[in-house]
Order: sequence, then structure tokens, then C-alpha cells
Amino acid sequence: MVRMITIKTEKIAACPICGSGRVSISLKGFDYETYTGSYNIEECKDCHIKFTNPRPIVNDLPKLYEDRKSADFLRSFLLIDKLRSFSIQRFFAALPSGILSGNKFVLDFGCGDGFFSKELADFNPSLEIVATDFHDDRPQRIIGHIRIKYHSHSILMEEHRKYDVIFCRHVLEHSLAPADTIRLLNQLLKKNGHLVIEVPNANSIWGKVFGRYYFAFYLPRHLFHFDMVTLGSLLRFFDVKTIAKGNTPLMGRSLGYMMHLPIENTGIVGLSLYPLQIALDKLAGSSSTLLAIARKK
Ligand SMILES: [Zn+2]
Repeated sequence: MVRMITIKTEKIAACPICGSGRVSISLKGFDYETYTGSYNIEECKDCHIKFTNPRPIVNDLPKLYEDRKSADFLRSFLLIDKLRSFSIQRFFAALPSGILSGNKFVLDFGCGDGFFSKELADFNPSLEIVATDFHDDRPQRIIGHIRIKYHSHSILMEEHRKYDVIFCRHVLEHSLAPADTIRLLNQLLKKNGHLVIEVPNANSIWGKVFGRYYFAFYLPRHLFHFDMVTLGSLLRFFDVKTIAKGNTPLMGRSLGYMMHLPIENTGIVGLSLYPLQIALDKLAGSSSTLLAIARKK
């Protein structure tokens, strides 16, 4: 069923990162999810950040996430849960050694449906975990979980605690001011603490194949569209260990947008195309996501 939302938008006159007036349109797109209208992706000629323009006004942003049914809140099917769990556990195991060992204090910033926090608790039973998001109530998946606390953003700020590790996965691109978000995360980290960031890669070959239908552009929910360079410059005051290329299934929904059909990335179609997605990205030297690991100086 088509879900339609009405929101107010604002046109941005200059680059929201560096203030430059030298911007150009790199893509004309549309909200294929809730039909709020047309949006451009513009690129700053000076700092090279890509951003959505116009963008939703700050007061109307919550409307886009109201029922927690956006694609960031995957529905729970046993097989999909198993695959998700498998890939997240593999992701933890591949992190530089020591990051998640011992009884670290870990923040899952932008926890979504809570699945990732739950996987953290499973990976290392000694971790103390705080999950946070802008909703007041905790996500259903972590209700009653004794080792995961849930704080809304406002409560988190009142706590004044510092963390050993902060995960910020698929959050930055939704932020109105990603540089402010990074500064906030820096404040929340202990000295030498680790920040692990994942964002979609705007430079994926699939962005060229699907164009405005590419699911990772996700207009107007994604307000920024990062690549290796622009993500790196956002993290310049950290000791950046690595920015690596990663993958997440994106083909199902992209095809769905193109054909006006509700195809899921994690459904049969999306998952069966996933190996092809990874193969072409590899061949082109691109990827669907970027993973940055940085240490607080
Ligand atoms: Zn700029």
C-alpha cells in the first residue's frame, strides 16, 4: 500500500558544510517511499559534499520516521533475522582486535529497531551497552533486555557519561548537521575511544546504474551523500584508522522504485541479486557502504 506524507521543505542557498555558493545539481530525484515530492542532490564545488536540496524543515523531519516502518526498521522474519545476525557477528569479528573486548562501555547511536545493540550484547557478554535514538520509548526488540539501557537523545545528553566505543551506523546521512553530530560523538568518547561509522557510499557503481532510483539516495530522508573523501574530511580531527568499503543489500528496493513495486532489499528478489551487486561493485572498485574506524585524539 502506498503511504503518502505531506511535509514542508526549505531550499538551501549555500553549501551546508562549508558555506560555499558554488554548487551544482548532480542528480534530480524523487521520494519514492512516501511521495513527498522532488529533490535534487547537489554537489559543492569547493568541499565536494553532496546534499539533498530542498530538504525537509526540521520540524517536519519526524513525520518521515513516525511509524518506525521506514526501510531502516526492517520487519522481523526468522530467516532475515538469522542473516542479519550472521552478518553483524561477522562484522564484529572483523573489527580491529581489542575494540570490543573486555567490559567496554558502548553506545549504539541511532539504534533503530535495536537489533544491532542486541547483537553487541550477544557478541561480548561483558559489554555495557546504551542504545539511543530520538524516540522516547525503547524499541520493541530490546524491551526487557537487562544489559542494554535505552536513552532518548535528550536523556543521553543529561547523563554526561563517556564511552569507550561509539557505533554510528546509517545515521550521519540523516542528520541536518553531520559535522555537529561528529562533534557531539567526539564529546561523548573517552580519550583514545573508538568511533565506528557506517554510511551509504554515494559513489557506488549502482548509483550510476539506477540513477535517481538508487535506494541509497533515499530522498529526502538522506540529507547528505558521502564518499571516501567527504567522509574523511568530516573526521579530520580524529585519528582515522581506516575507511573501508562494505556492502548492504540495495538492489531490491532500487528495482522496486524503478518499477513502482514494493520490493524489499531483504526479500527473495533483493537477496538473490545481492551476489551480483557485490560482484559489480568489486569490479568497479566501488561499494554500497563505507565503514570508517577512527580514534579520539
Ligand atoms: Zn562545501
